[in-house]
Amino acid sequence: RPTTPPTLHARALHARYGGFTALDGVDLDLPPGQITAVVGPNGVGKSTLFHCLAGTLRPARGRVLLGGRDITRLPAHARTRLGIARTFQQLAVFPSLTVADNVRVGAEQGRVADPGAVERALRLFGLDGPVRALPAAGLPTGTLRRVELARAFAGAPRVLLLDEPAAGLDSAEVAALARVLRALAADGTALLVVEHDLDLVADLADVVHVMTAGRIIASGPPRDVLDTLGAREATS
Ligand code: ADP
Ligand code: MG
Repeated sequence: RPTTPPTLHARALHARYGGFTALDGVDLDLPPGQITAVVGPNGVGKSTLFHCLAGTLRPARGRVLLGGRDITRLPAHARTRLGIARTFQQLAVFPSLTVADNVRVGAEQGRVADPGAVERALRLFGLDGPVRALPAAGLPTGTLRRVELARAFAGAPRVLLLDEPAAGLDSAEVAALARVLRALAADGTALLVVEHDLDLVADLADVVHVMTAGRIIASGPPRDVLDTLGAREATS
């Protein structure tokens, strides 16, 4: 029985939509405690990779492994149970449920049933005030992003997959997001951030992978990868 959390691996992932190859052999490791970013222009396959890891898309070829276990054929809900949590690029909270009840759903669907998890998640993401009792419908984007993160966190994930978590946030909210994500990584969570905001990536990521046309073409620490490749231009 492992004493450290498992690494999520992608091996030679290929994905297709009809005849179109959206992933063309992607390898990726998400080790515990590391913030990994995937960047690249629109349409290069970032969300497709994300879906293959989360279990919402079956790859045409290749494998997804959690520790030594092959999870390629496990559906999304089963991966959630194993500790792979996600947020959505298009926000996906339950509009009629309160903030607290949205977070409770995450705790119930997660890896361990921990009665304290909901309160901890609400506190960590600054949702423990009066907002906790409000229906999610109509809350500002920044708040809804925090609801999604709190919901994912409440399930005690070992791997947290975030598709454009900074979309729609103002700079103060982005700074607060970065602080929380760093704290989660320091706590041993493996984080994947698919992100358009390269300033956030430069500030946050330990390792950056640059994608074009379904492949990873460069990998390394942000100061190397983002500067030498001119990924700033490529992504703008
Ligand atoms: P990114 O997240 O990097 O913007 P995506 O992974 O969403 O890119 O998309 C990669 C490519 O696959 C794009 O060319 C996109 O048009 C195409 N694609 C994405 N989803 C579908 C789909 N459901 N059906 C057909 N083509 C798709
Ligand atoms: Mg995308």
